[in-house]
Amino acid sequence: MKILVSDPLHPSGVELLKKVGEVEVAQGLQKEQLLEKVKEIDALLVRSETKVTKEVIAAAKNLKVIGRAGVGVDNIDLEAATARGIVVVNSPEASSITVAEHTLGLMLSLARKVPSANASLKGGKWEKKKFMGIELRSKTLGVVGMGRIGSQVVKRAKAFEMDVLAYDPYLSEKQARALGAKVTDLETVLREADFISLHVPLTDKTRGLIGKETLEKMKKTAYVINCARGGIVDEKALFEALSSGRIAGAALDVFEKEPPLESPLLKLENIILTPHLGASTVEAQLHASVIACEEVANVLQNRAAKNVVNMPVLAPEALEGLKNFIPLAGGLGRFAIQLSKGRVGDVDVTYAGGLKDFQDLGVLTNALLCGLLAPILTEGINLFNAPIIARNRGIRVTEGKREDSEKYQNLIDLKVRTDAWETTIKGTLLGGEEARIVEVEGYPLDLPPRGRILLVRHEDRPGMIGKVAMALGERGINIGSMQVGRREVGGLQLMVLTVDQEVDQRVLEAVKGIAGVERVQALVM
Ligand code: NAD
Repeated sequence: MKILVSDPLHPSGVELLKKVGEVEVAQGLQKEQLLEKVKEIDALLVRSETKVTKEVIAAAKNLKVIGRAGVGVDNIDLEAATARGIVVVNSPEASSITVAEHTLGLMLSLARKVPSANASLKGGKWEKKKFMGIELRSKTLGVVGMGRIGSQVVKRAKAFEMDVLAYDPYLSEKQARALGAKVTDLETVLREADFISLHVPLTDKTRGLIGKETLEKMKKTAYVINCARGGIVDEKALFEALSSGRIAGAALDVFEKEPPLESPLLKLENIILTPHLGASTVEAQLHASVIACEEVANVLQNRAAKNVVNMPVLAPEALEGLKNFIPLAGGLGRFAIQLSKGRVGDVDVTYAGGLKDFQDLGVLTNALLCGLLAPILTEGINLFNAPIIARNRGIRVTEGKREDSEKYQNLIDLKVRTDAWETTIKGTLLGGEEARIVEVEGYPLDLPPRGRILLVRHEDRPGMIGKVAMALGERGINIGSMQVGRREVGGLQLMVLTVDQEVDQRVLEAVKGIAGVERVQALVM
């Protein structure tokens, strides 16, 4: 095997590769040199510097695997790699401990005002009184997001004898408790935490999670720490809360705009800022290199790799006849997670009609799990690792088959049970191509799983459609289509609208305020 390492990688990973093949380390290659070198190679190892373009991939006749030491794969043309059957692997977990340690470092710095005290003494002052601090022991830490990094922060906070409250609506209570955290809702975290540390991905739901309204609910003595992503904290609202003394302080490693050189936050005394250093340690670099190289070796030696970013290793025969069902299965998962509330415990999927004749439907179940989990995870879920990620999160998945596909040729029947809710949803592929959701919680529908969708559960009485349409129209929301389903006359009806604009909290509240409306949910597919 010929392996090219074209970016600076920690030597421990490179040593590992030497056991698998002949390794050439050549950094800073010009485009033409790279095009020449990739011709014969079986594997390519990069960080973010080498641009693995379509042209590079086309030139690499024997290339089987590209390893990215780190997380983001923006520098690799995934589509071109996938089309050529080249596996792309990365190392998303390499920096978790490093980021968790930085979080603890910021927490201690806030508690003991280390940066200001350091600046003061170097400025020739001896201000012992000014820098009176607090202990972490017995303080309450609120962790928002209990994934790879959040769970490591909890472990370390326990060593400081802190009480930990965790908010992660997608994690089982058992798992959080096993880590020594008390699972609770966001309101409780905001109200009771002395330190609030954010470890969620930046999504539609988490953008501005810490803003004017949430800051209002915190203790006056509370500190906020963001080592996740800029944008999760609304910096304008944070500036106001810090300047008015609404909360005690904050520490940010990530910003809405990086570098934040124009930000008014730079002038405040009660904030600590670091230049996106969360993942910057020697060890994180080492792990990123070792994990990526191990994954490359796994692929070269035909072993399973857990950090596969694309999906070319699916055997064509496994996909035969099922390919068009993958977006349907993903759509059902994505719809279900947004519809349900509480922590997902069980996922039951039954394949019916024509689908039951396929021997292996695992790829569809995995696509469904991707749809279900991708909206809540930072990155890296794919058709291969989805079952592992689901299992690690305590989700039990059962797969079954049945004859009866109701009036459809094929049917996927999905049940998602959480600790608070059960969502049932059915979908079909019309004419072998068009994905449709045909039933949601017993209500018949005919809905393509695309775009922005508004679900309104309301009493079965005259005038409801008009009122909802009016409330939306008055707030500038254009309705693309509308359908109403009911299970029985006089019960609850489900109104499903496709809309062109984002439905924000203000619009949701307005629809919820209409007499007879029970529940309103906005979904983005
Ligand atoms: P992860 O995917 O392992 O965990 C994210 C967790 O957030 C999941 O458990 C998920 O269930 C939970 N979650 C999703 N939406 C939520 C919501 N609305 N409310 C509460 N919980 C929610 O991700 P990770 O690897 O632990 O990374 C966490 C964050 O750290 C990400 O934003 C990532 O980009 C960031 N990060 C920052 C640096 C840095 O240099 N500062 C380095 C690496 C990662």
